[in-house]
Amino acid sequence: MLRTAVDILRALARAAARRLWPAKCVLCGQSAVQLHEARGRSGPARACAETLDLCAGCVGDLPLNDRVCEHCAEPLPIDCVQPALCSGCLTQPPVFDACVAPFRYAFPVDRMIHGLKYRGELTYGRVLGELLARHLVSRGTRPDVVIPVPLGTARYRERGFNQARELALPVCKALGLSLRSDLVVRLRETKEQATLDRSERLKNMTNAFALAAPLNARHVAIIDDVVTTGSTTNELAKVLRAAGAEWIEVWCIARADRNK
Ligand SMILES: [Zn+2]
Ligand SMILES: [Zn+2]
Repeated sequence: MLRTAVDILRALARAAARRLWPAKCVLCGQSAVQLHEARGRSGPARACAETLDLCAGCVGDLPLNDRVCEHCAEPLPIDCVQPALCSGCLTQPPVFDACVAPFRYAFPVDRMIHGLKYRGELTYGRVLGELLARHLVSRGTRPDVVIPVPLGTARYRERGFNQARELALPVCKALGLSLRSDLVVRLRETKEQATLDRSERLKNMTNAFALAAPLNARHVAIIDDVVTTGSTTNELAKVLRAAGAEWIEVWCIARADRNK
């Protein structure tokens, strides 16, 4: 009963705050869309934020990744018959079992990820994480733990935050999942993957991660911002598989075409 009263008071406070300070789109400053469909839902979706801090126009501009490889979520040609596998998965399937990537790495998602990573605009991390949470709700997947791809110590000190963890926070909050940043460490500093070609990316990430604590989980989700060749998440998946993970999903905001 007390819990219900507190929830009602919180909802009233949120409604008053929305009237006094209407949410603005983080991309263009227009009024943000009210996501009425989130209200009144039961289950995990109930915890998703009611506003997204994006306007209807910018939501409409989001580059949906809706024609994808069923294993790694790489964008496929528009005329491709679904379901289908990409050429990479046909010749050398990744270690992870599935990949969720709601968007292609294109405007305005690329701009938001860039702002988060390189300018420390954490608001973009929250909004992108909430978009990912909404996408995941419809899949109904419930991993035992969610692991953000760790940064090396030097890069973490330089950046002051881990962008993968910033994305994981709203996801785990909305879906009620266990976020574990302590289970895996990056053993050495690796070069920025964006600066390397495909073979250099594979070499750069080999043996980059190690387990730092017992996994004790069969179903694991790895969170990263962008997946391009999949070499980072694949190396991390190898470590988790060796530690006993039976089903490993990769959750990312955007999937880039590995051939571009
Ligand atoms: Zn906008
Ligand atoms: Zn694939």
